[in-house]
Amino acid sequence: MADGAAHDTFRIEARNWLEENCPPSMRTPMSDADVIWGGKGQVFHNPEAKLWLERMGEKGWTAPEWPREYGGGGLSRGEAAVLQQELGRIKARPPLFSFGLWMFGPALLEFGSEEQKKRFLPDIVMGRTRWCQGYSEPGAGSDLADLQTKCEDKGDHYLINGQKVWTSYANHADWIFCLVRTDTSVKHGGISFILFDMKSEGVETRPILLISGSSPFCETFFTDVKVPKDQLVGEVNGGWTIAKRLLQFERQSISASGFGASTAGAGALGPHDIAKAKIGVNSDGALADGDLRGRIAKHLMYNKAFGLTVRRSTETAKAGGDIGPTTSILKYCGAKLNQDKTELVVEALGADGLGWSGDGFDKDELDATRAMLRAKGNSIEGGTSEVNLNVIAKRVLGLREHQ
Ligand SMILES: Cc1cc2nc3c(=O)[nH]c(=O)nc-3n(C[C@H](O)[C@H](O)[C@H](O)COP(=O)(O)OP(=O)(O)OC[C@H]3O[C@@H](n4cnc5c(N)ncnc54)[C@H](O)[C@@H]3O)c2cc1C
Repeated sequence: MADGAAHDTFRIEARNWLEENCPPSMRTPMSDADVIWGGKGQVFHNPEAKLWLERMGEKGWTAPEWPREYGGGGLSRGEAAVLQQELGRIKARPPLFSFGLWMFGPALLEFGSEEQKKRFLPDIVMGRTRWCQGYSEPGAGSDLADLQTKCEDKGDHYLINGQKVWTSYANHADWIFCLVRTDTSVKHGGISFILFDMKSEGVETRPILLISGSSPFCETFFTDVKVPKDQLVGEVNGGWTIAKRLLQFERQSISASGFGASTAGAGALGPHDIAKAKIGVNSDGALADGDLRGRIAKHLMYNKAFGLTVRRSTETAKAGGDIGPTTSILKYCGAKLNQDKTELVVEALGADGLGWSGDGFDKDELDATRAMLRAKGNSIEGGTSEVNLNVIAKRVLGLREHQ
């Protein structure tokens, strides 16, 4: 059967299945509080969210293109694109937000052993295991390869000692994918990529408060943590290649998702609608404040162009093209756009955008203020904007380093 006809058949199957299986409340707009991260600690306030995750997980459609033998949907790229369109058609909520789906799983598919893939991937697809990312350390952020967390070979196990920082949701995660130093005599070539249970003896997490008032990440300490040897991915001292590849998946996913679960606040409305409602319109029906109108229009145009660029690069990646370092462009622009958007929302709200708590502000207004503050981290997480600009200069534009 030709591709087009096969996709038509698949579209009908997917549409019918989604009509039958996507619960009504999973077709409504979601807020940050509705996000399902999965894992053993997940509490489902809405039973339909649990049902939706179970059904999508069993079908393998939380990871549509992963092979069936690892729990994925086994769909072709074309079928996965059709599925996305059909999910969009009914405005279905993503059943699962997951570092496992976005970053760790794709890396494990490339670098893991058969045993590791069979062991870890199905639980990610079903949302049963929540993963966190142990990369940054107090002395190793942008210069990640300077990391010092020590991993010693003790014969029948590895022993890990050290500290990570800014570990997103480490206090809620079941497992960690972690970069450790297995050789101190070389920098990049002395790093390994290892996995362990966050319940292991010697693991401690301490949440850090962000400027937005929430605690999305932690300091994470490892004291004599014993790790079975079959939990090292790839070769000993071969972790840097895996680390870099995973960062590409991370940058691609956070820019494509509009910076994770974070909403811009003020409900589903954009800066344009809010500004019109708060400031009013002129005799042509356009936003009365010409300066703000111009800046919002510019933002909306960039946003549209960015959306199309993300779509193009997603299609290129799906067609097997290497988008590698261009993910840095997406990450850089996505961060800037989200910061612009959340700032414009607060500006449009005027004095109503200056609340922190209390009865004088409604929930959407308070969310808008916090979303604007949270967005400051967008140009730091997943590699800072400056570092991404360096990557673009060197690896995309081919510019030489200034001597
Ligand atoms: C919300 C959030 C979530 C995060 N989640 C995680 C996580 O789950 N796991 C994890 O491991 N890490 C996480 N991080 C950490 C993040 O990856 C690091 O903060 C980031 O890589 C920067 O490292 P740093 O904080 O040590 O800053 P530094 O590397 O010390 O940088 C400080 C400043 O110097 C600039 N700079 C550094 N080097 C250069 C250079 N060569 N050229 C130009 N400028 C440079 C930087 O751009 C920055 O402005 C998270 C961070 C945030 C904000």
